[in-house]
Amino acid sequence: MTTVSEEELRQINEYTRRALSAEEVYVFSVTLCDNEVDRDFERFSIPALQGLAPLFLGKSGIFDHDQKAGGQSARIFKTWVEENKARTTAQGEPYTMLRAKAYMVRTEKNRSLIEEIDGGIKKEVSVGCSMGAAKCSICGKEHRSMACEHRPGTCYGKEVCHLILDDPRDAYEWSFVAVPAQRAAGVTKAFKKEALSLNDTLERIKSAKSGLQLSADDVQRLKAHLTALEQAQRDAKTFRDKLFCDIEKYLLLALPQINAKQFLAGCRTMSADDLQELCKSLQTQAADTLPPALQLKHNEPKMNRQNNRAFCI
Ligand SMILES: [Zn+2]
Repeated sequence: MTTVSEEELRQINEYTRRALSAEEVYVFSVTLCDNEVDRDFERFSIPALQGLAPLFLGKSGIFDHDQKAGGQSARIFKTWVEENKARTTAQGEPYTMLRAKAYMVRTEKNRSLIEEIDGGIKKEVSVGCSMGAAKCSICGKEHRSMACEHRPGTCYGKEVCHLILDDPRDAYEWSFVAVPAQRAAGVTKAFKKEALSLNDTLERIKSAKSGLQLSADDVQRLKAHLTALEQAQRDAKTFRDKLFCDIEKYLLLALPQINAKQFLAGCRTMSADDLQELCKSLQTQAADTLPPALQLKHNEPKMNRQNNRAFCI
């Protein structure tokens, strides 16, 4: 049975409604998280672990994520960052852990849980926290801004890309879990990877200097985008064909001396906007050549003939 020091009891009693005695509390320590790369290809920086330490003070533990069934049965009353000088992480940093001490009130309901912790059955802890920064380990850019093309878990040379979590904003909860994300401690981060928009995906493609990985969602979004583009292309072709028909029609009326075939061939590279302008001018000129009774309908006031000079060949 772990003994509770007077100092610890004083710290515990800062979180309790009434002062608890040493016999009433059960104290145990947990490793909340560390600076090794976890199963999600993310790791905390050492400053992040230091920043998280005060944020976890007073945070309740949830057991098996069962918040309803009296889940709040343990509370952290002390946190500290601990360095293991004998161990170095894969990134060459001294292995560093965020450690915590938590207490539980010894009740009949908690008895089996206390036995499990004492027996080492319950030892894997998962934490929920919010991190302000997630930087790419390859280029150092903020991953969420999509400024880089590296994908966590992918090899670049000898290095496997991972995200370095920094700037802790908040800590929510911790719990014992069966399969934690972190190898040593077990961390489920409430760090939300926001769904990327189509624009983000397109930006990544445009700025990529080599191959890049796309998620299933990226592919679905790109497929839908291509379908929409193909439809837009068909619509654009229909629109241009109609413009060419009109241009030819007005050209024959306005400038019958011009070789229409050559003229139209010269128009092929013009933008739709320029073609529309040309069509309008030719329509105006064509209207002028017709007797008033047959004047073609156009809503604009009669254009200054000077404006059509460009098209008078
Ligand atoms: Zn990168």
